[in-house]
Amino acid sequence: MLPEHGTLSRYANQKCRCDPCKQANTAYHRARNNGGVITVYRIVLDIPIDGGHREVVDFESVSERQARKELRRVERWYANSDVLVRFEEVETAPGG
Ligand SMILES: [Zn+2]
Repeated sequence: MLPEHGTLSRYANQKCRCDPCKQANTAYHRARNNGGVITVYRIVLDIPIDGGHREVVDFESVSERQARKELRRVERWYANSDVLVRFEEVETAPGG
């Protein structure tokens, strides 16, 4: 399976040049020149299993627009289930 659009991996390895992938590449290089900090937007699925909860990251992107678009899709998908969908902004440092 290909990495999602809006990821550095998709840009660098699959040579995708769509807007979200270009943004990912730009954000990565900006971060490298700026203390190594990058903001990642992620959708976390909180899935109840056996009375407990298990968190699964469903989507991760440096493009907020792409992430929010995906969020709307995921929220519709899980609207009538007991899966909780959370949206997070995480500051992180890309590897390398
Ligand atoms: Zn792309």
